[in-house]
Amino acid sequence: MKIAVVGVGYVGLVAAACLAEGGNHVVCVDTDKKKIEDLKEGIIPIYEPGLTEIVERNFAAGRLIFSTDLKEGVDNSLLIFIGVGTPSAADGSADISAVLSVAGSVAEVMDGYRIIVTKSTVPVGTHKKVSDLISSKTSKPFDYVSNPEFLKEGSAVEDFMKPDRVIIGTTNPAVMELMKVLYAPFMRKKSRMLFMDPASAELAKYASNTMLATRISFMNEMSVLCEKVGADIEMVRAGMGSDGRIGSSFLFAGVGYGGSCFPKDVRALSYVGRQYECPMTIAESVQKANLLQHDRFAQKILDYYGGQAGEKVLAVWGLAFKAKTDDVRESPAIHCVKKFVEAGFKIKAYDPEAMENARAELGDSVEMSKNSYEILNGADALVIFTDWQEFRTPDFEDIVKRLKKPVIFDGRNLYDPAYIKKQGIEYHSIGR
Ligand code: NAD
Repeated sequence: MKIAVVGVGYVGLVAAACLAEGGNHVVCVDTDKKKIEDLKEGIIPIYEPGLTEIVERNFAAGRLIFSTDLKEGVDNSLLIFIGVGTPSAADGSADISAVLSVAGSVAEVMDGYRIIVTKSTVPVGTHKKVSDLISSKTSKPFDYVSNPEFLKEGSAVEDFMKPDRVIIGTTNPAVMELMKVLYAPFMRKKSRMLFMDPASAELAKYASNTMLATRISFMNEMSVLCEKVGADIEMVRAGMGSDGRIGSSFLFAGVGYGGSCFPKDVRALSYVGRQYECPMTIAESVQKANLLQHDRFAQKILDYYGGQAGEKVLAVWGLAFKAKTDDVRESPAIHCVKKFVEAGFKIKAYDPEAMENARAELGDSVEMSKNSYEILNGADALVIFTDWQEFRTPDFEDIVKRLKKPVIFDGRNLYDPAYIKKQGIEYHSIGR
């Protein structure tokens, strides 16, 4: 099929590359000129496992084209996917101005029937706004599909290639058939396509993200209680997760969730609840609990030093909001590091992929190093924020040798406390 993907970020680029890998002809359109020039040069703007190979392969095969010209994409495509950002506005609502701007521009340049598919996460009711906008700008026929994306950063390519489900929000049977054909290569064993009305599709995305965020915040609150009563959150997690009705995913306590989706989507759902006078009390509480969890972890460290930074140096492992991504948007690490800097601590940090993005957030306030062990030399403690694989079984002997005093604050519960103690390390983790 001939497809345009507008907005070439974590979602758009992965979707475009995977659709091209399936044999489709895909034009990727973005307003960011540098990004498009880089992509043409083979420079992939994000870190995502497995992405470089499929972008290179499909670019070389001529199935993946990069452009800043929306008309080029619309002229050559039946399906126009919108994958631009929908960040939080100041009031917590999702800012859909980029989606509307793209939809309006598509309407202005389309010369015949097109199917406009929204992959961006957009609040319920957006399908109507977009459809009305397009109708107001063109007399050409079109269909609108809400197709929210569920991929996860860090495993985005795999998630797109083998989705748990693909939600298609449309009431037009002909469009349903076309979408079935488009997604068939990604579900050869069994169809996992769900067809529904666009409003339900839009809401299914927010409900999913908020449910996942709720599980995390629930466990984080449990972890606080565990610390108070002398229980171990990892044992509590095992006890809960073995219940088939609960399952074991998304039950890890830690420093709180972050990233470009959960925080903004939980906020946006809360906003929609207020808008419709249907308070989303759980979503509101989940946000509060999450911010408290970030602050609690930072405060635990500040309290350990009696609020006196003095000449203290903290070595930080992990700046990305989670492992296997370079994304630092709303990362708990960035939130806490800013607090440490404010309190006067000197921070030396390492992340395998996210240091460049973190520098844009933290400026020169933090010294970054490409060597995770070098930053430990003479530091007062090691603070871990991200669960990168390489942090899971480090050389503890070396850590002890390098730190001024062997102290680890672990925001991800990566280690067995008994084992760490044997290594002569003072260990502070979450909820145990
Ligand atoms: P992103 O910021 O990585 O990428 C968005 C891209 O859109 C950027 O390259 C930007 O230059 C481009 N853009 C903005 N306005 C444009 C315009 N008018 N015309 C053309 N290009 C334009 O964002 P993302 O993380 O890929 O997220 C995109 C959407 O997908 C959001 O709604 C997000 O909530 C949703 N989503 C994201 C993820 C994820 O893990 N990142 C997962 C599922 C859904």
